[in-house]
Amino acid sequence: MLKLVTLHPEVISVLIMSNSTKYVFVTGGVTSSLGKGIISASLAKLLQARGYSTTIQKLDPYINVDPGTLNPYEHGECFVTDDGAETDLDLGHYERFLNVPTSQANNITTGRVYQSVIEKERRGEFLGKTVQVIPHITNEIKERIQLLGKNGNYDIVITEIGGTVGDIESLPYVEAVRQMKWEFDDDCIVVHLTLVPYLAAAGELKTKPTQHSVKQLLELGVQPDVLCCRTEHELDLNLRRKIAKFCNVNMNAVIESRDAETIYDVPILMQVEELDKVVLEKLNLPTKSVPNLDNWKEFLNRLKNPENQVNIGLIGKYVELKDSYKSISESLIHAGVSNNSKVNVKWIHSEKVNAENASAHFEGLDGILVAPGFGSRGISGKIETVRYARENNIPFLGICLGMQCAVIEYARNVIGLNEAHTTEIVEGCKVPVIDIMSDQEDISDKGGTMRLGAYKCQLTPGSKVSKAYGTDKISERHRHRYEFNNDYLEEFENNGMKATGRNPETGLVEVVEVENHPWFVGAQFHPEYKSTVAAPHPLFVAFVHAALNNK
Ligand code: GLN
Repeated sequence: MLKLVTLHPEVISVLIMSNSTKYVFVTGGVTSSLGKGIISASLAKLLQARGYSTTIQKLDPYINVDPGTLNPYEHGECFVTDDGAETDLDLGHYERFLNVPTSQANNITTGRVYQSVIEKERRGEFLGKTVQVIPHITNEIKERIQLLGKNGNYDIVITEIGGTVGDIESLPYVEAVRQMKWEFDDDCIVVHLTLVPYLAAAGELKTKPTQHSVKQLLELGVQPDVLCCRTEHELDLNLRRKIAKFCNVNMNAVIESRDAETIYDVPILMQVEELDKVVLEKLNLPTKSVPNLDNWKEFLNRLKNPENQVNIGLIGKYVELKDSYKSISESLIHAGVSNNSKVNVKWIHSEKVNAENASAHFEGLDGILVAPGFGSRGISGKIETVRYARENNIPFLGICLGMQCAVIEYARNVIGLNEAHTTEIVEGCKVPVIDIMSDQEDISDKGGTMRLGAYKCQLTPGSKVSKAYGTDKISERHRHRYEFNNDYLEEFENNGMKATGRNPETGLVEVVEVENHPWFVGAQFHPEYKSTVAAPHPLFVAFVHAALNNK
C-alpha cells in the first residue's frame, strides 16, 4: 500500500487519480543466468525506497506444477513461502531485498497454468469452445499477473519471465506480455536484460547479440522500453548510442549492468544508472521522490568492512551447486553483518565425510551447519559431522534433515540406542527416533504434499533459542514429512538433549538443544527462508555469534 508519509505530494496526487496498478515485465535475452532475479529485486528495492508498494512475481516456463519435485541440481534451492508454496529460488531474493513476504501468487509455472485451464475445461467453463494456447492459456497468464496487482493493492507489480526470449516454452508468456502492453498502454512496460560480451581478441564490447535478442522480441510483437545490458566493462556513450539507435530505445533507457562484487551492490549500481527513474518516467509516474537507501548502504558498508572473520562449515550433498543452499548462504552473510564479521563458508560434501577423515575436514572451523535434505545419500557423513561438532564443542546448527541427523546421532552415541534411525531411510527400523508424521502416512503423491509453510512454535524460556529470538512465541516455515518421535522424548530429555521448541497444538518437536555444549541447536523448520537484509534471522545471528566466541 501507499506509504503516504514518504511520498512526494505530486506522487500522491497522481497515484490517487490513476488508482491503477502499473506492470513492469522483465525479460531476458542472449543467454540464461544474466541475473534477471537480482535486477528485478534491485529495481523493486529502488521503487520501494521511493515509497511505492511493489511486489515481484516469477513466471517459470517449465511444466512442473511447482519446483518442489525438482532435484536441486536442476534448478537450485526450492524456496518455501509462509502460505506453504514451494517456489523458485528467486522469490528468496525478492524477500531478502524487499523484506516483504511473498506467496503462492508470486510464482506461476506453465504446469500450474495448464492445470488450471484443464480443470476449467473439465468443469465446462469453456463449453462449446476449442481450448487453445491463444486465448485460453494466455488469458490465464494475464489473469494471474493482474490478480497480484488487484489483491495485493500494489502500486507496481514486477513480473520476471523465466527462461530466454526465443525459447519455445516462453512463447505464451511473451504473447501475454504483448497483449498486456497493448491493453494497458502507459501502465505497462518491458525491461529487457541482455548481454554485451567482451571479445578479448578484438578488445571490444559487442552489441550484436543484444540487437539480435531485441529483434527476436520484436518478431513476437514486443518492443522493449528499457535495456539492461550485462557487461564486464564500461558501456561508453558510443556504445549506448549504438544500442539505442538499433534497438529503438531512448539513450537514457540503455542501462549498464556491470558485474558486481556482491548482489547487494546491484540496487546502488542501478540507482547510479537511474533505472528506477527511467522506469517511473515510462510508467508516467512522478520521479521527484528520492530513494531512501540509508539502511541498505549501512548494511553494505558493514558487509565490506568486517572487523572479524569466522569460518563456518556447510555440510550437504548438493554442495557442487551452491544455489542449492542459496537461502542458507545468504542468511550467513546477513548474520555475519549483524556480528560485524565476514563469514567464510567451507562447503563440505556429506558423502565424503567419515569417522576417519572428519577432523581433517573440520579443522579450523568455528561453527558447523548441517543442511536440509532428502534420502539416504550422504546421511552417514552428516551424522558423523554432528558427532564431531558435539564431541568437540563446536557451535552447531542443524536444519530439518540436519536436526534429524542430530537426533539420530545423539540416540546412537549418547543414549546408546545403536539402531536408531529415521524411517525415511530404514523402513521398519527398530528404533525409529525420527518417524513419518501420522497425517503423512497415507499420502502417495509427491507434489505439494509435505508439511509446508508457516507453523507456530512455542520455545522454552531460558533456552538458547528463546534467548536468540528474544521471545518464546515464533512462527517458522517448514518442508518435511518426518518428525521427532515423541515416544523417545523422555529418554532424550533425561540424557541431556532437550526439546526447547514445540508446536503448541500438536506437540511436534520443532527444536532440540544439547545442554552441556556451548551452542548446539537443531531446528525442524527452515529459518533460512526468513532472513532478510533488513532483518537478519536471529537464529543465524546467534549461531554466528557462538562461532565467533568459539574462535
Ligand atoms: N527428509 C526429511 C523429511 O522429510 C527432512 C526434510 C528437509 O530437510 N527439508 O522430514
